[in-house]
Amino acid sequence: MSYPSSPGPEGGQGGQNTSFTVAERAVLEVLAMSDRPMGAASMQERLSDLGYQSSEATVGRTLRAMDRKGFTTQSDNRGRVLTTKGHERLRELNQHKTRQDLEDQLRQLLRSSTVNDILEILSVRHVLERYVCREAVNRASAQDIWQLRAAIRTRRPAGDMPGFHSLLAQASGNQVLATLVELLTIGEVRHQTLRAILTVQDSLDDMEFHEKVVDAIERRDADAAEKALDIHLERIITAVREFGRKNLMPGPGEHDG
Ligand SMILES: [Zn+2]
Repeated sequence: MSYPSSPGPEGGQGGQNTSFTVAERAVLEVLAMSDRPMGAASMQERLSDLGYQSSEATVGRTLRAMDRKGFTTQSDNRGRVLTTKGHERLRELNQHKTRQDLEDQLRQLLRSSTVNDILEILSVRHVLERYVCREAVNRASAQDIWQLRAAIRTRRPAGDMPGFHSLLAQASGNQVLATLVELLTIGEVRHQTLRAILTVQDSLDDMEFHEKVVDAIERRDADAAEKALDIHLERIITAVREFGRKNLMPGPGEHDG
């Protein structure tokens, strides 16, 4: 089988499958947008407009391969249309492309903010915010707890926004802690980068830990609050570290083959 049935997340290395998938997606997209059946010649013209250069013979071969896979079907002698299966395939490839675009965007962002910067910040946050939780258990007012819950509600499902963590630090009643956490969680590029990394690593939906922290603060359980925060940040750190291992050049002196 020449079609990768579901392109893996590692498909971005410029291999044969990747370029084939790109061409496949373009063909399916053109067919999906067209209000009439298309033949190889008009398809080739349209693809060339979109910047995909290939011969009419190649386009014809691609279309016949798609017929065999059930993605396209001959509608009349003027050309082909997309089948339901073809629409599904296009959706799948578009999702894959969105993910790859995100990874490209992430590579851009990483030029101004490195994974190591982010890990250093997170490790300081890890220490500080565990203390924040213990303090918040003693000091958080009903109003603080209400605001934390509102932050969880409104951020869902956007992910690990700084708002929650800043509010948590304010609920500690310690202005120095609040300022430090604020400084460590703001920063547009850094924050965007962290969010993108967590999205790529499928670790963005970690909101249950925010809820666990607030629940523990509300019942004045310092150990549980600290533990929930500990697990939450530990998971974020692990995700960022894994991302670094997979996507970045090995550090000086190390080269795992
Ligand atoms: Zn969080």
